[in-house]
Amino acid sequence: MAAVPPRAGRAKSNRAALHAIDAIVPLKLRTGVPVWLADGARAPASTALVANLKVDVAVIGGGISGALVTDALLQAGLSVAVFDRIGFVRGSTPASTAMLQFEIDQPLTTLGQRIGTARAARAWWRSASGVARLQARIADLGLRCDFRERHTAYLPGTVLDLAGLRREAAARERIGLRSVLIDRAALLGLTGIDKPGAIWSAGSAEVDPAKLARGLWRSAAKRGAMLHAPVEVIDIAPGKRRVTLGTDTGHGISAGSVVLATGYALTKLLKPPGYRIISTWAMATAPQPDALWPSRCLIWEASDPYLYCRTMRDGRVVAGGEDAAFEDDAKRDALIPAKVARIGRKLQRLLPMIDTAADFAWAGCFGESSTGLPAIGAVPGAPRCYAVMGFGGNGITFSAIAAEMVQRAILGLPDPDADLFGLG
Ligand SMILES: Cc1cc2nc3c(=O)[nH]c(=O)nc-3n(C[C@H](O)[C@H](O)[C@H](O)COP(=O)(O)OP(=O)(O)OC[C@H]3O[C@@H](n4cnc5c(N)ncnc54)[C@H](O)[C@@H]3O)c2cc1C
Repeated sequence: MAAVPPRAGRAKSNRAALHAIDAIVPLKLRTGVPVWLADGARAPASTALVANLKVDVAVIGGGISGALVTDALLQAGLSVAVFDRIGFVRGSTPASTAMLQFEIDQPLTTLGQRIGTARAARAWWRSASGVARLQARIADLGLRCDFRERHTAYLPGTVLDLAGLRREAAARERIGLRSVLIDRAALLGLTGIDKPGAIWSAGSAEVDPAKLARGLWRSAAKRGAMLHAPVEVIDIAPGKRRVTLGTDTGHGISAGSVVLATGYALTKLLKPPGYRIISTWAMATAPQPDALWPSRCLIWEASDPYLYCRTMRDGRVVAGGEDAAFEDDAKRDALIPAKVARIGRKLQRLLPMIDTAADFAWAGCFGESSTGLPAIGAVPGAPRCYAVMGFGGNGITFSAIAAEMVQRAILGLPDPDADLFGLG
């Protein structure tokens, strides 16, 4: 990356092609204290932007999506500068409950009816390989982020009853995913949950999302990525050969490509149909290693909205759900006590041996898509601009997929699943 002499940063001469990327709604991405921030660990070091920059790729967003994309771009030998308006690992990422599932929100059977069996199979398999890729990268980089492989138990609910789960398990088995239907006795033995059965799957995992993202950013910085915060990118002007970014510091960035990893801060530039922002709530109990279910699997329900839970390394239980339409930050935040109490009551009914009193409670924005699939790839009408919208319950898995897809797109290489996740 080369620093070029300061001049008026905003691309005023190119107004016609300029896209303002200020958020449609000024979203406060989360409130309350997520359990992952309790250790008081420092954010990765970043610096102010004090000059114009010229770089191969500019990444906007210092969360897990930006981190994984930056890692993949550095692997490809590109120079990368990253900008975040509030700081690194300060957005939605530390609010995540960080269940790294390959299971997409839309059951394979339902998704197959919507987009076709073969496309649904590809989406599910890409999701499975996303988890595997993330696991391999964590091992490569030696990141200490409490990553643990876990099974998942998918319980019957309002979306799929036991007969529906049986069909779902059969559909997954047909395409070779590691899912089987288990009966009441097996479920009880593995989880302590008394329900008529569940889908039991291998191939998922859990992680501390803040440690993971911080570790990725530290590794990226050591390998030459330039981390700048607080810097808000306020406009993007794609030119003939390069893209010019304007920032609130008055400095400009000239980049060969730009990646918008801006999370749920929806921008005017990114409005793919079927994607919307909702509110969600989460809590963590006190540590109780001796009361946990034997398998310590990830648990979620075939319901809408669904309750989900996992354990942490120190024996806490993390649970979330109660999703509702996003109205405004104040209303969402005022609802934290009531929503968390409801999550606690549901958890108690499911796992009577757990003390469900909340030690930590928080709320956040959450992105949903009508298919449960992310939007990843080239931004229509903005050449050399790419976006990562990992909307859906598997946001982190989708960020791992995005890293691979965006790297390929910038290198001019084809990706076999570009048609599934495109923004068009
Ligand atoms: C309560 C909750 C539970 C969840 N549970 C799970 C789960 O179990 N499993 C899972 O896989 N996913 C889960 N998710 C989703 C997952 O956390 C998200 O998909 C993921 O954290 C999004 O990461 P990101 O990097 O895209 O966004 P963020 O972490 O929000 O990062 C985006 C960054 O972009 C910056 N930014 C935005 N606009 C600009 C601009 N113009 N200029 C500069 N910077 C800008 C923001 O400041 C922000 O820091 C959950 C989310 C929530 C809220």
